[in-house]
Amino acid sequence: METIRRQLAPHLEGRTLIDVEILDPRWTRPDVAGPVAAALRGRVVQEVGRSGKYLVWRLSGEHYLLMHLRMTGALLFDPPADPPHTRVRFALDAKHRLVYNDPRRFGTGHLVRGAEARDAYLGQRLGVEPLTPAFTAEYLRSQARGRAAPVKSFVLDQRRIAGVGNIYADEALFRARIHPLRPAGSLKRAQFEALREAIESALAAGIDAKGATIDDFRHVDGARGSFQDLFCVHQREGRPCPECGTAIRKLVVGGRGTYVCERCQPRPRGRGRSGRARASAAAGGEQL
Ligand SMILES: [Zn+2]
Repeated sequence: METIRRQLAPHLEGRTLIDVEILDPRWTRPDVAGPVAAALRGRVVQEVGRSGKYLVWRLSGEHYLLMHLRMTGALLFDPPADPPHTRVRFALDAKHRLVYNDPRRFGTGHLVRGAEARDAYLGQRLGVEPLTPAFTAEYLRSQARGRAAPVKSFVLDQRRIAGVGNIYADEALFRARIHPLRPAGSLKRAQFEALREAIESALAAGIDAKGATIDDFRHVDGARGSFQDLFCVHQREGRPCPECGTAIRKLVVGGRGTYVCERCQPRPRGRGRSGRARASAAAGGEQL
């Protein structure tokens, strides 16, 4: 998301929203699309910021547009034509335009007035951000205490850790040598430290490589990010682990495709490939 923000900000900051057309009412739900579009019209984009996985547009008149792209949302600046799943059209001054495209329609846009409303909205949805001083092993440990949910789901939970997507969760767990099915509360103290460090290093590597285009990052100009060339496990099913050569396995954890080297990331006890687990693995995954 930081990659997208960096690309978008220079195109949008200082520009006026001449017109806004919200073609999909689901985008603003539970707010009604028409009044939101009307309230956006004529406002100047003063700053494009980010909070976790939310893009935070600061607009004139103390309004904030809080956008989440979810799985398949993408913002395109000056596309030659509207893509097939266009949900929102922003007409900007100087004849520029921005299009929000989202095939699966999970992305959201909410307009709030005032910094207090902005913080309340985000506070209910966002945990601590990696790459900030509050993101410590002790914080992770306190959040995970008593939790039986898989650590992969814990890492993806935006209310606890902001801004970590599916790719980064897989890559971080591999770096930390933690199996994604480990119950979050069962990690040892040293593993929380390893996890914190691994999340930060995976995110930093992603930012350096301008993101990946597979799911977490979609470039404003359609260019391809290079982070996927550096993946150790993500989307590498059947290929050798870069550390030990064992074939990477694909699981489904919390509904998300999850890649693991089960030699570097040993399975928790009692979660071996036997009985039902083997049957469902043979059927193509382990739904948890
Ligand atoms: Zn390995």
